[in-house]
Amino acid sequence: MKEKKQNILIIGAGLCGSLLALRLGQRGYNVTVYEKRPDLRKVDISAGRSINLAFSDRGNKGMKLVGLEEEVKKLCIPMNGRMIHDKEGNTFMSNYSGRDCEYINSISREDLNSLLLTEAEKHENVKIHFNKGCKRVDFENTTAEFKDYVDNSVFIEDADVIIATDGAGSALRKSYYLGKKFLFSFSQDYLTHGYKELSILPTEDGGYKTFKNALHIWPRGDFMIIALPNLDGSFTVTLFLSYDDGKYNFNNLTTPEIVTEFFQKEFPDALEIMPNLVNDFFENPTAPLGTIKCSPWHYKGNTLLMGDSAHAIVPFYGQGMNASFEDVVEFDAVLDEGHDNWEAIFKAYEKRRKKDTDAIADLAIDNFHEMKDHVGQAIFQEKRKIEMALEKEFPEDYSSKYSLVTFNEVIGYREAMLRGRAQDKAILNMLSDGEISTALDLTDKNVLKEILGKVKKQTE
Ligand code: FAD
Repeated sequence: MKEKKQNILIIGAGLCGSLLALRLGQRGYNVTVYEKRPDLRKVDISAGRSINLAFSDRGNKGMKLVGLEEEVKKLCIPMNGRMIHDKEGNTFMSNYSGRDCEYINSISREDLNSLLLTEAEKHENVKIHFNKGCKRVDFENTTAEFKDYVDNSVFIEDADVIIATDGAGSALRKSYYLGKKFLFSFSQDYLTHGYKELSILPTEDGGYKTFKNALHIWPRGDFMIIALPNLDGSFTVTLFLSYDDGKYNFNNLTTPEIVTEFFQKEFPDALEIMPNLVNDFFENPTAPLGTIKCSPWHYKGNTLLMGDSAHAIVPFYGQGMNASFEDVVEFDAVLDEGHDNWEAIFKAYEKRRKKDTDAIADLAIDNFHEMKDHVGQAIFQEKRKIEMALEKEFPEDYSSKYSLVTFNEVIGYREAMLRGRAQDKAILNMLSDGEISTALDLTDKNVLKEILGKVKKQTE
């Protein structure tokens, strides 16, 4: 769109909204953002949301787009692999990739969001207003109604286009659904598991109580805890557990004794470094996990859903934020295509993007089972060993599903899913048939070449 003076209203200044505001500000649009919460740079509002996140290459594309890659690097703690903890307290490291340059990062939601807000506000054509929640959107007239949470006033804002980046509970999406003015498809699928955030505090001198550069997992089949490092030496721990199934569940973990018993039995090495467990457990909320898919994302050339508002996913691939940042990159690329009206832009964007966000939603569910269960199984560990060896020996020719999803900046999530699933199937089948094995010499190039040939043959 050539008309840079167009007024764009963004609802929600979370991760996606603040990056979008920054990018559209850089492009010269007049951008107004309304955020329902207070300014997180001034008030601590972290409780109840994931404190830190796994940030990887797709998300980093967004940072490169706005010129913030180096600034964001300063907020990152590299995590080279998963450190698996068994019930006896034994650990082993399973790297994310056989290529040394490929790793994911732990990053603070608050620090990243703050940086994006501050950078966006440096543009005088970007205005961000806090404590103003959107109640509904009149998508036919491109207006939105807001409530000011400071003085309780209600007001209506008008714009040329409205883009909602207001997360999983999106007000625009609700307006589409309730409006019944067009065929709007919507699905919301909850897992039977919820999550609760806990913590491992730093040592007295600010050090880390367990290995810093890993995403720690305690997989226990039907449930798990994970831990990601923070810059201050602490780890944010997340317990993923059923609400009502199994011996221990969120509904019956109601006393300090039973919570301690659960951790003593299932996660004894974690309990040793979590003296604050009981406090955290009863202070922090338990929240549900779900997948939201919907279509269309846009109404004519008036309104558009982006980020979690269009495609909330469960967090097990660590890709929700990354996908939301990639949304901005893809949207920006569509703006470069030279369409002459917003409807054409929104249509082109949804067409190129939806297949990929549907794919990452499905991959994230797959990874739920992989993380809580499969990573602890011998055949899965053998598969990972073989894939690591292939990636190391043939960095140009082989990428595991995890690498395709997480580190590949060129192909979309859908292609990564199709290629990755086919490879997984081929390797697992060959392992169970005894056609390949980790007993082979995986340092021998010829052995690996033969395995690679077999995988390729089965996946072509
Ligand atoms: P949000 O971050 O939810 O931002 C929405 C913003 O809109 C918020 O600021 C909110 O206050 C505001 N808002 C909401 N309603 C209104 C309204 N009516 N009016 C005005 N403003 C409004 N992703 C990863 O990539 N890696 C991870 O490791 C990862 N871990 C996760 C762990 C957990 C437990 C969870 C729940 C999610 C995780 N995610 C992860 C996903 C990630 O948090 C989301 O995908 C990401 O936050 C989406 O960004 P968003 O801006 O679209 O939505």
